Amino acid sequence: MPKKTAAFHTLGCKLNQYDTQSLMELFRERGYTIVDFPQRADVYVINTCTVTGTGEKKSRQAINRAIRGNEESIVVVTGCYAQTAPGEVAGIEGVDLVIGTQDRAQIVDLVEEIAAVHGPRILVDDIFKAREFEELPVKEFSGRTRAAMKIQEGCNQFCSYCKIPYARGPSRSRSMKAIIDEAQRLADQGFREIVLTGIHLGFYGRDLEPPSNLAEVIRAIHGIEGLARIRLGSVDAPEIDDELIGVLRDYPKACPHLHIPLQAGHDVVLKRMRRPYTLEEYRRVVEKVRENIPDAAITTDIIVGFPGETDAQFKNALQFVEEMAFSRLHVFRYSPRRGTPAAGFPDQIPTKVKNERSQQMIELGKKLSRGFHQRFIGREIEVLWEEAGIDGQGDLWQGHTPNYVMVKAYRVTGSPGDLETVSITGAGEEGIWGTVVEQLNGKDIE
Ligand code: SF4
Repeated sequence: MPKKTAAFHTLGCKLNQYDTQSLMELFRERGYTIVDFPQRADVYVINTCTVTGTGEKKSRQAINRAIRGNEESIVVVTGCYAQTAPGEVAGIEGVDLVIGTQDRAQIVDLVEEIAAVHGPRILVDDIFKAREFEELPVKEFSGRTRAAMKIQEGCNQFCSYCKIPYARGPSRSRSMKAIIDEAQRLADQGFREIVLTGIHLGFYGRDLEPPSNLAEVIRAIHGIEGLARIRLGSVDAPEIDDELIGVLRDYPKACPHLHIPLQAGHDVVLKRMRRPYTLEEYRRVVEKVRENIPDAAITTDIIVGFPGETDAQFKNALQFVEEMAFSRLHVFRYSPRRGTPAAGFPDQIPTKVKNERSQQMIELGKKLSRGFHQRFIGREIEVLWEEAGIDGQGDLWQGHTPNYVMVKAYRVTGSPGDLETVSITGAGEEGIWGTVVEQLNGKDIE
């Protein structure tokens, strides 16, 4: 009998990518072959997104692509859009199963049930009842040296622009035992770097009994053999305490890199966003990180054109961002998300103004990245190599430093996952380049 096939399509963030890997694994375990989307398949799984302005539209397009011409296939829609608008998704003709961000461990059973009695079903429980971290282990990432490991789900913060707390429910943490087991498994598979991720990562451990925190997670997995680096995903400023900074400073595998979402550069805007800090508090955290870890890379997210943001407030944001000397900026133009308080704020900013502000902020971000990268010229830095052949030839490699600066250099031999020292000779907006210290082969990058 031919094997059953399943095709997956993922929209949105890294966490969704991660969840899709887990779902694929569940299907593989049950004998399915995974095929590329939108190739012909018995089952299509669309992992949707609702966070960005275009997320829902793209999600609907992907659903329709799966449905078109595949009347016999089972179409499953999951993820944030499915969680927040289950009725709307189920109303799309051809969708067989809508499954929210919980209960996904049973996904294959549900699909097989539908295959037996072909008819649509909706399974979206009240997400606010979810109290436990749903274990969806990732057993396989392919061709990579870095693996994302999700240790926390959900968020209790309800920032006024964000739909995530409605889509993913309250914060819940993965047990320490499950984290250690998965980190060990990933190291055994050859992954050298683990990125700890979560929706509101800094809340890790608050719901556990006894409570725990990110510093404990790093300490718990630090001794795993084969693992070279532990990196943190995004952590909000109020959650970066002395203990966490101390671990990042003192544990050699802990990467000196913090992504601390700023979101706005004016206290009035921060307050309307319901962010839990002031600029002064944010500044103090950044100063403390830099006092302890001088080369720490601090990256951030910033939203421009939030309702009511005046020209003066935006100017303040530019000044503050410059002062913080971020090594990388992710700039987002505010877009209203249905059902969030900010979507109903009366003073929405015209698109033209949002575009102009975004452009200015992006330019500033490039300048800051260049500035951060230039400090490494003339220094020798450890690089974890990821891939070869980035110039179409075999020997130009790309990797990252512990503080997440992209590095390029020519190598004669070696594999992804190798750690080497590179002598840095140049820097640009995107990263730095140089010569491998142990493998000088005379080729420099212009
Ligand atoms: S902290 Fe705010 S922006 Fe982040 S997921 Fe929670 S509600 Fe959304």
